[in-house]
Amino acid sequence: MMTTSPIDGNPLLEPWTAPFEAPPFDRFEPRHFPPAFDAALKAARAEIDAVAADPAPPSFANTIEALERSGRSLDKVASVFFNLAGAATNDELQAIEREIAPKLARHRSETYLNEALFKRIDALKAQEDKLGLSPEQIRVLERYHLDFARAGAGLPPETKARLAAIGERLATLGAEFGQNVLKDEKAWLVLLDKSDLDGLPDFFIASAARIAADRGHPGKYAVTLSRSSVEPFLQFSARRDLRETAFRAWAARGENGGATDNRAIAAEMVRLRAERARLLGYETYAHYRLADTMAKTPRAALDLLESVWAPGVARARKDEQALQAIAASEGGNFKVAPWDWRYLSEKRRKAEFDFDEGELKPYLQLDRMIEAAFYAASRLFGLEFAERFDLKLYHPDVRTFTVTGRDGAPKALFLGDYFARPSKRSGAWMSSFRGQQKLDRAQFPSVVNVMNFAKGAEGEASLLSVDEARTLFHEFGHALHGLLSDVTYPRISGTHVAGDFVEFPSQLFEHWIQQPEMLRRFALHYKTGEPMPEALMGKLLNARRFNQGWATVEYTASALVDLKLHLDPSPDKVDVVAFEREELERIGMPDAIAMRHRTPHFQHIFSGGYSAAYYSYLWSEVLDADGFEAFEESGDIFDPKAARRLEDFVYAAGASRDYDEAYRAFRGRAPSPAALFRKRGFEASS
Ligand SMILES: [Zn+2]
Repeated sequence: MMTTSPIDGNPLLEPWTAPFEAPPFDRFEPRHFPPAFDAALKAARAEIDAVAADPAPPSFANTIEALERSGRSLDKVASVFFNLAGAATNDELQAIEREIAPKLARHRSETYLNEALFKRIDALKAQEDKLGLSPEQIRVLERYHLDFARAGAGLPPETKARLAAIGERLATLGAEFGQNVLKDEKAWLVLLDKSDLDGLPDFFIASAARIAADRGHPGKYAVTLSRSSVEPFLQFSARRDLRETAFRAWAARGENGGATDNRAIAAEMVRLRAERARLLGYETYAHYRLADTMAKTPRAALDLLESVWAPGVARARKDEQALQAIAASEGGNFKVAPWDWRYLSEKRRKAEFDFDEGELKPYLQLDRMIEAAFYAASRLFGLEFAERFDLKLYHPDVRTFTVTGRDGAPKALFLGDYFARPSKRSGAWMSSFRGQQKLDRAQFPSVVNVMNFAKGAEGEASLLSVDEARTLFHEFGHALHGLLSDVTYPRISGTHVAGDFVEFPSQLFEHWIQQPEMLRRFALHYKTGEPMPEALMGKLLNARRFNQGWATVEYTASALVDLKLHLDPSPDKVDVVAFEREELERIGMPDAIAMRHRTPHFQHIFSGGYSAAYYSYLWSEVLDADGFEAFEESGDIFDPKAARRLEDFVYAAGASRDYDEAYRAFRGRAPSPAALFRKRGFEASS
């Protein structure tokens, strides 16, 4: 009989010898993860305990650098696991995810609540000026000190025990929350017949036919709750009854009763977060969460959200009247509802700007948009991308590129996983298999972008909407933040920056796909190869401020509800849905618009790290709107001088600098919110 110990022969724990230490996905099986996590956690624990127990007096090298070197095996196992859990999950991985989340939380507590370790860091912090440290090392030391203080180091043992228990419970709940949303999305599918396709453009019909066939219903057409399916359906379907059905199912994710209902989970998470903040000496969870951001206080974030709310609502009310008129002119005897807005707006856009999304889409081929993103990265930062086919990845759709820098030497690996599938969580994101650092030797980053685009029919190009093309650039901006990182220490590398700064590099990059110079070169018709006609492009660019009232309202409502939920000092009996309803009433939410993310499926704040911080997108938009004007002012969207400063102070800098300082170094001055108002087409509020 052959036996293997759980550790021997576990490919997760062996050295990975492929270029860039790419994980050998073809060898991983779900059963490898639990023993690999156990072994990696044990190794990390031993490494960290050794630092804490070091008899030598604390030094930057034997404490901070030693911590920076610890947990390498855990990082590898966890990055593979969580990337699979997001992009290619199954029942086995989901069960492991629920099991591992509290173990990882316990590991974090054991590290950050280790008193001996904190004493060493605290001693170093007290003499940081006398240690001869570089500015980067001082930043790293400060981050560590803050991480420990914010976790509760230095508090009495019973408080620390409670904090640890809260951390574990929150981790379990967060994993469940995300899985429940995925289950609700997978469970829902509406099958249409040929007679139900009124108004739907060819690209949608082709992809709906493909989804139906994939799910075992050839000859039918399927609408799913993936954003890439339900959004265009709501935008184009002339069938108000079907739009309402689809919209209600989409809005009800996480609120369907039974095993996947997220209301109690969300309420418990809000309670636990408030308790954690109290134990750490903060007024509310929002105060705790924002203390270490650019905004610094909930008041500053609220001020920004409130400054766009009133002009956003005013614009949306005007737009609603126009939509109501369109509905009436077509004999529609109904009040505009959330499931009508996209559809009627599309009609209005066609009438006012004389084009529709369906006309644009043939020019927005996924492959050309990927090339466009690479081209902009090349012009701005000197990066080149070469596709390679030798690495075994976790799904045949994933593409791999070697990235070389200005000197022509390889500096990173980039993975693109673009298509929606049932095993993938909804949304779009960037993540890493390995971060950049050069503590002992140069470690090149390995970064992935995951999207949920609809795959084109067999043999046909995959086509994107304008929003999707922008999303591709957004996530690629995050990817560049990881790929261009050039710091010594992992703690401050790449996207490890404050939550309201991290969207700046991504949102800034979105601007480049909205420039005529870029569209002329890359917006090519998928059948004829002809560039988008100048007139159509002009209409597209003119329409950029179209529907900005609606976009502002749906986003800002979600951001305000998130912040307010976490500003309640004692949410002991919180009913998250009632809270949401009351808050929307208080701020005057228009009936015809729904929140972008309702609380029961708001993954950003319950399973995605944006708790009390969904405002970050708007905060970063102040920076991106103002920042892109640096290029516009120069008259060259690839201005080499501005690009160089952007690379040095933002994309390559990680958290090695204070964020306000980094922005000023790039821009030559502090950001002004006026550019944000210009970008959205609002008058600045007085
Ligand atoms: Zn982002």
